[in-house]
Amino acid sequence: MVRVTERPALWELSPTQWEAWLKAQGQPPYRARQIESWLWGRALSDPRQMSNLPASLRSLLEENFRTQGLKLLHRHTSRDGTQKFLWQMPEGGTTETVWIPHRGRHTVCVSSQVGCSLNCRFCATGQLGLERQLKGYEIALQVATLKGAYPLPVSHVVFMGMGEPLLNYSALIEAIELLTTRIGLSARRLTVSTVGVPKAIRRLAELPQRIELAFSLHSALSEKRRELIPLAAHIPLDDIREALIYFCQQRREWVTLEYVLLDGINDSPEDAEALRDFVAPPLLAKVNLIVYNPVPGLPFRPSQRIEAFQQQLLRRGLLATVRQSRGADIAAGCGQLARQKP
Ligand code: SF4
Repeated sequence: MVRVTERPALWELSPTQWEAWLKAQGQPPYRARQIESWLWGRALSDPRQMSNLPASLRSLLEENFRTQGLKLLHRHTSRDGTQKFLWQMPEGGTTETVWIPHRGRHTVCVSSQVGCSLNCRFCATGQLGLERQLKGYEIALQVATLKGAYPLPVSHVVFMGMGEPLLNYSALIEAIELLTTRIGLSARRLTVSTVGVPKAIRRLAELPQRIELAFSLHSALSEKRRELIPLAAHIPLDDIREALIYFCQQRREWVTLEYVLLDGINDSPEDAEALRDFVAPPLLAKVNLIVYNPVPGLPFRPSQRIEAFQQQLLRRGLLATVRQSRGADIAAGCGQLARQKP
């Protein structure tokens, strides 16, 4: 007898695999498109509700596949319209997704892991540790579920939720494939954010899909960066910079440097000078200064020098913008995701 856990999830089959499976069941190939449309267009996980399929096929789906989609545990809405969703994931554990409407864009911030192993000192997620990797379909399903089940418009996706996506590389690539082929998003509207894994950055540069890349720098001074991001102790900043340059050259694209401004930690004139040096050619980068969202229990506060820091970069000819917090009142901002319930 086949154990339940050995059955694949409905979401794991490719269109070709669906056609092969349907053929083996004596079903016509067009049923594959109908099933895919329920799964990825509507994020519907219960075969009994797939009303254009014959009853016999619906039963076969129930018998042969795991059908659990994302189960909503909490939905929070911010004063600014941002929404945060806490899910029970189909393969176990809970994680969060944030939907951010802003200036005509509707961005979904997806999680790539349950928790995170990297323990960046200023980040709530980092305090949780890593429970497990998400599968590729679980990452893409966060977007499909918001679009299909709620339904919310989606124009952009950022891999900036819980976890370090480049430490779950194969699932990330699978998710990018699903988002572009099954959910119909342009790769140019997908941004992968990393604290810096040079080998994986080089592999991203060679992907057929032209995704955007954001690097969480947070300090261009190696010693200070190591204090903020423990992973930096094992990966020299110069190696990451070379990988970013490779990405720029392969893609003829700019990358984004994310820099969260922490009061008295990384916001001095010397820090701005180091940042300017980091962004020297041949690196092509714009700087995104992030207003820190305080996390209970952590000692960091938002910088009081944001404007002065930005002006110093602008005077040096850098492209530097300030990203205002969205959803901070519901702990949905950068570095705040920690699966708190109300
Ligand atoms: S900032 Fe990103 S990589 Fe660092 S602990 Fe938080 S989720 Fe993990």
